[in-house]
Amino acid sequence: MRIDVVSIFPEYLAPLELSLIGKARQDGLLELNVLDLRDFTTDRHRTVDDTPYGGGAGMVMKPEPWAQALTSVAGPGAGAEKPVLIVPSPAGERFTQATAHELAGEDRLVFACGRYEGIDERVLEWAAEHFTVRPMSLGDYVLNGGEVAVLAMVEAIGRLLPGVVGNPESLVEESHSDGLLEYPVYTKPSSWRDRNVPAVLLSGNHGKIAQWRRHEQYRRTAERRPDLLEGFDAGALPRADRTAFADLGYDVVDGRLARRPADGGEPA
Ligand code: SAM
Repeated sequence: MRIDVVSIFPEYLAPLELSLIGKARQDGLLELNVLDLRDFTTDRHRTVDDTPYGGGAGMVMKPEPWAQALTSVAGPGAGAEKPVLIVPSPAGERFTQATAHELAGEDRLVFACGRYEGIDERVLEWAAEHFTVRPMSLGDYVLNGGEVAVLAMVEAIGRLLPGVVGNPESLVEESHSDGLLEYPVYTKPSSWRDRNVPAVLLSGNHGKIAQWRRHEQYRRTAERRPDLLEGFDAGALPRADRTAFADLGYDVVDGRLARRPADGGEPA
């Protein structure tokens, strides 16, 4: 996969030289280029922003440096397929593990890091001729710039590329891979500061361990992220798992989980 990142703070992306992503670059699994938007300005001050039309606070990123920068990455070697242009924005679609999987299947990604009040909207319209444009949000909060979002997205996408994570099994059993949060994990020693590892994990009974882990996933998800259970397919759950959900206050209705009201009424 080839990734290009355009930013006014290229040095912000330096952590992508470290750890698994850094190694993936060294091993040739990932080509990652960082471009300085100011290199595509033509004035003495290398200006990338101006005041907003219509008034209001803050500055807006000027369109022409973006057009020049994006033309340079979409141009030579771009191939027939339009690269995906990801524009980090709190007003974008939510970036999730499913998005990471989808984007890990692309050959080329380009990230456009906004700053100030964002990028002149016409850039996104113009870019749609050369790219598949996807404004994308890390979550419902506002960052100062797109760079932190790009660090997170590139790491989430990059670790899904074949060969990047040593043991691909570890990608299967983690949070969000099956729509649930991961179960709690423990290592040696089995007793630490008067706290013991759950006995089932020491039992050697793989069936029981798998069941305990699944039920812990249900418990954690119900406690911390009940919204994730709304889309959970409960149609084929074994009896023990239905009981685990019943203990957490959920009944299976028409293959979906329904939260039992605290007053004992009909499930929601
Ligand atoms: N005025 C913009 C708005 O309200 O939608 C916010 C601009 S923010 C201060 C500057 C830049 O940070 C954005 O252009 C975007 O690149 C990035 N950014 C901020 N919050 C983000 C989020 N939740 N997800 C992704 N990128 C974000």
